[in-house]
Order: sequence, then C-alpha cells, then structure tokens
Amino acid sequence: MEPLTFNVDEIEDSGDLFEADLSRAFIDGALRGDPPTEFYAGGAAHLRAKVTKLGRKVLFQTRFTVPFEGQCKRCLKKVRVDEPIDLTLTFVPGEVRGEPGGPAKNPGAAETAASFDPETVDEEPYSGKVIDLSGPLREQILLAIPPSPVCDEACKGLCPLCGKDLNQGDCGCERTAIDPRWAALKDMKVQKKEK
Ligand SMILES: [Zn+2]
Ligand SMILES: [Zn+2]
Repeated sequence: MEPLTFNVDEIEDSGDLFEADLSRAFIDGALRGDPPTEFYAGGAAHLRAKVTKLGRKVLFQTRFTVPFEGQCKRCLKKVRVDEPIDLTLTFVPGEVRGEPGGPAKNPGAAETAASFDPETVDEEPYSGKVIDLSGPLREQILLAIPPSPVCDEACKGLCPLCGKDLNQGDCGCERTAIDPRWAALKDMKVQKKEK
C-alpha cells in the first residue's frame, strides 16, 4: 500500500494532486478496531485529493467512496453499501494531539478548545514536514458508517422459529403474532403458579 503521507515542502505553490489507494486492510483496520463496528471493508477505495498550501497551513480536499460490507438486519445476507466521504481538512503546524505512547498533555483543556471554537473544528495539527493522513482517514471512515442495512426494503427476514430465509418461500411454521397485552397476562399466570 502506498504511504498515506506527504511532505509539505514538496507541495507545489500552485497546488497539487494527491492520490492513494486505501487498501481493504486499512479500511478493515478502522472498522474492526476496539470496539469493532458491525461492518467490514467491501473492498479497497481510491483517494484523490486536492492539496493547497496556505503558508504553513495545508488545505486538503477530497471526495471518495468507501465500500462497506454489512449484514441485512432481517435475513443476515451480506449487503454492500457504498458511502461517499466529503472531506476538507486544514493541517496546521503544531503539537499532534493524542500521540500514541505520549504523555497526556492536559487532555481536558484541549478538548474544550477543540469543541467550542468553530474555526478549529476541521484543523488537524501536524509536526515536522510530513503530514500523515492515516489517523484522520480512519476517523472519517468511522464517521461514514451507514445505519444497519437491509438487502431489500421488501426483505421478509428469517422465520423466528426455524430460521428459514422467508424470501425463499414459506416454511409452514405457525407464526401467529401474540398480542403483547396477552403475552403479559400469560407471564402473570406463570408467576402465580410458581408461588
Ligand atoms: Zn434481507
Ligand atoms: Zn419456520
């Protein structure tokens, strides 16, 4: 996989194009973290971004599609969902937040500043000359996670009794829905018996 980094000094003053493949393993790395999401990578993604230098600040703009693979919430069949990611980030020179292994530098204060100043919401600090996109990209992949999918709006799901996929035909099970009020009465009777 190509490195998800670029050197600030190598960006043309007129702006540059940055391209990289986000491998299936990279996307899975974001989705199967701790805690894991209900999705897996549905494949690789291709990233094409416009990079513009504003002094030492770097504006990074991209729009790409991430393929997610989940399960139909009714019949558990695999479902692929492509989600677009529209991303504009401004990288600013400074302390990199949350460096792994680094000492926690007053995290409470940093959080307050980041969440209450709208100007800095999309700002990402970088140190040195190299900008590493992997952290912000992992974050964006997690933000793009779609709601639990269905394979088809008309999906009939699985029989709760025998587990048959009802899209393939009926199984013949007696699936009379019990009115929840009657179900509550049934429970009360059972409790009385136990006394
Ligand atoms: Zn389904
Ligand atoms: Zn059945």
